[in-house]
Amino acid sequence: MIPYGRQSLDQADIDAVVQVLQSDWLTQGPGIEAFEQAMALRCQAAHGVAVCNATSALHIACLAAGLGPGDWLWTSPNTFLASANCGRYCGAQVDFVDIDPHTWNLDAQALERKLLFAAAKGRLPKVLVAVAFSGQSCDMRRLAELAERYGFILIEDASHAVGASYAGRPVGCGEFAAMTVFSFHPVKIITSAEGGMVMTNDAELADHLRRLRSHGMTRDPAQMRGDSHGPWYYQQTELGFNYRMTDLQAALGLSQLNKLDEFVQRRRYLAERYRQRLQELPLTLPRSQAEAQSAWHLYVVRLQPEGLRRSHREVFEGLRAAGIGVNLHYIPVHLQPYYQDLGFAAGDFPEAERYYAQAISLPMYPGLSDDEQDYVVEQLQRLLRAPEAA
Ligand SMILES: *Cc1c(COP(=O)(O)O)cnc(C)c1O
Repeated sequence: MIPYGRQSLDQADIDAVVQVLQSDWLTQGPGIEAFEQAMALRCQAAHGVAVCNATSALHIACLAAGLGPGDWLWTSPNTFLASANCGRYCGAQVDFVDIDPHTWNLDAQALERKLLFAAAKGRLPKVLVAVAFSGQSCDMRRLAELAERYGFILIEDASHAVGASYAGRPVGCGEFAAMTVFSFHPVKIITSAEGGMVMTNDAELADHLRRLRSHGMTRDPAQMRGDSHGPWYYQQTELGFNYRMTDLQAALGLSQLNKLDEFVQRRRYLAERYRQRLQELPLTLPRSQAEAQSAWHLYVVRLQPEGLRRSHREVFEGLRAAGIGVNLHYIPVHLQPYYQDLGFAAGDFPEAERYYAQAISLPMYPGLSDDEQDYVVEQLQRLLRAPEAA
């Protein structure tokens, strides 16, 4: 089966992890800071705070933004559950903004309309999680203007977008978002097995994130109430978690970072190749936004409903039957039973729902060969063109 995504590991990655196993520190060692600093340098950000996955990164980013009970978090319905759940972890209410029918990212115009309405009702969000869907940032310039005007904090969920750029600068640089979250799950652009990081230019936020990832503890006398009792002393100043990354993961992440450019280049090559080979088929292909250079975590196509010989499900199942592990990103979050129990219903975000009825994620990862990609294209052609005989 050709998967839709998978990691690319080499001997250097394996050696980096083995070296940690032979060292004094399996966790909380020097590898974490090395990975954080390398990511910060790469993203042109002042600080990186590594954690055990992007879900916990989103959680502590929301807490550091001051999100709590009585507040609202808004995000896109076309995302992984974690972009919305982070608001619920903080006791906040969650709402969604429908997607742009072309970029499949949160629609800045829909956001502006919703903000006007929310301002009138006194229900403005405290946090907006802007998901860089498939590796392409939202219209961050516009979102940042709206954040300024309406006083919410912009967090970019760039789980798909390590190595992407926007407005000529790396995603994560913090020009538009107060905090940017990356995921290093194996299907993402680079991996640390499990892992995540929050990038920020705000030293206070970075400090706060570091405390939250480790039990709300500090060993810095400047952050303590009263005097330190001695060199052993630490204080818990608030409720935090154990969201730490291990040194094994950090070493893998750092080693993978050396290959980031190569990985993204290969993904861009494959995306262009798909575009050339699929443009004659009854498909809507991903559309790039002028300011954003995607990292191409996903390559999603939408079936055009007119004159389809097979249903969306039949095409999907046909590809799976042909040994192609296609996937579907994403089931609109508001349609999940958990969110339905909170009051959301089918029809609430029609663009995201229309998208869901048509979308298929094709295989996209650096190790996908040209021949394998050609096979995917052939199978799509067969399923979309051939008459009834399946
Ligand atoms: C993968 C993903 C996450 C969660 O990442 P983990 O590292 O698996 O916790 C969050 N948001 C988006 C958009 C993702 O794709």
